[in-house]
Amino acid sequence: MYFVTQKDLAVYSDAIKHHACPFCRKFGKLIFHGYLRGYAETSSVKIIRGRRIFCNNRKRSRGCGKTFSLLLPDFIARHTITSATLSTVIALLLKSCSPAAIAKEVLGSFSVRYIYGLLVRLTLRQSFLRSTLLTRRSYEDLPCADPLLQTLRHFISVFSGDTNPVSSYQLYFQTSFF
Ligand SMILES: [Zn+2]
Repeated sequence: MYFVTQKDLAVYSDAIKHHACPFCRKFGKLIFHGYLRGYAETSSVKIIRGRRIFCNNRKRSRGCGKTFSLLLPDFIARHTITSATLSTVIALLLKSCSPAAIAKEVLGSFSVRYIYGLLVRLTLRQSFLRSTLLTRRSYEDLPCADPLLQTLRHFISVFSGDTNPVSSYQLYFQTSFF
């Protein structure tokens, strides 16, 4: 899975035959293999989150038969929540907002329970996030009783000024935030 901007996805789409397969390195074997779809955050409508690419091994094409995905960083793989909303949740956590206050703030489409679930997921992901962030910038902070908040502060410091730091993280590190 690779994260690409909407613009890069369009450029890639126009010139797919000129790209090498990331697995077998052959050129001219890649073809589109459908869209990545997921539920929109605020409704049960399915939206396009990216494209799937196939290294063609059918008939006489000698590709390797593997597939990979190009995902827009506005989305988080396997999750309904968008990276923009997750960025908002993180900003509110850093302002010491309670899960109830956060649930109320973000669209109203997420329950308090969902926000608690997000906190668990962020906590589980913490050491991974920290290790990736450290490759870009070290971080010194006053000792903090809450290591998750410390990690999130580090995260925001790395992508300070970005309107959607979760999206920036995915694009920069080429890995899912969760
Ligand atoms: Zn291949």
